[in-house]
Amino acid sequence: MPELPEVETVARDLRLELVGRRFVSAWVSQPGVLRFPDAARFTAALAGRSVGAVERRGKYIFCRLDGGEDLVVHLGMTGHLRVVGGDAEVVKHTHLRAGLDDGRELRFDDARRFGRVMLGTRALLEERRVLPALGVEPLSDDFTPERLDGLMRRTSRTVKAALLDQSGIAGLGNIYVDEACHLAGIRPTRRARRLTRKERAALHAAIRSVLTKAVANRGTTVDDYRDLWDARGSHQEELQVYGRGGEPCLRCGAILRRRVVAGRTTVCCTSCQR
Ligand SMILES: [Zn+2]
Repeated sequence: MPELPEVETVARDLRLELVGRRFVSAWVSQPGVLRFPDAARFTAALAGRSVGAVERRGKYIFCRLDGGEDLVVHLGMTGHLRVVGGDAEVVKHTHLRAGLDDGRELRFDDARRFGRVMLGTRALLEERRVLPALGVEPLSDDFTPERLDGLMRRTSRTVKAALLDQSGIAGLGNIYVDEACHLAGIRPTRRARRLTRKERAALHAAIRSVLTKAVANRGTTVDDYRDLWDARGSHQEELQVYGRGGEPCLRCGAILRRRVVAGRTTVCCTSCQR
């Protein structure tokens, strides 16, 4: 599932392609992908609108349209955004096509249909509860060690569950939570509020380090994730624990353990993570 580094990669590339361009048409072939509004209103609202900016918040991509509304996309588990020539072959599970004023198309395909597309002002989308309130951006200046302290100390949940909560920190998912916990030497099964001040500081630094490297590597491709040009990321070559259950820890050599924590398969080293 695309997490912050993968979504950031797509958003950065999309910014270069879409800012200053205008949508001239839109087709929705799978209305179920639209969270808001319905297909008829969506296509009418998108056609003729130009893109002023493209931003990422958490795992969401926001294309700011003239008039103050946003085209918002969440890639779900298997969603892909692509910019292709208008005559390019339409791949299976293409749910949305939006023609651009240069003859190309923005397309969204999603085999498993957990992706979401919506259009409206952020205030309206939040009011309609199709867009959740998102927590702090972990690569922003707002994500201070004190901010993490506050999130960890006021919950009875595990470290894993607390870090996966998008209303606390936006953008982390299963891959980068496990990687950050390993780098920080902290077991994801620990109670968040039991972490020491030193451990919280290590976790804060690890989250930023892991995400920064993964963005530089254009994300992790372990399943369906591809960028705007259908290319893979390369951070899978750097993974220390994710997907490595049963294999030796790259730091200490102990066999990595796999178990379900907060409903998600979790891998950690019970030797060098405390
Ligand atoms: Zn280890």
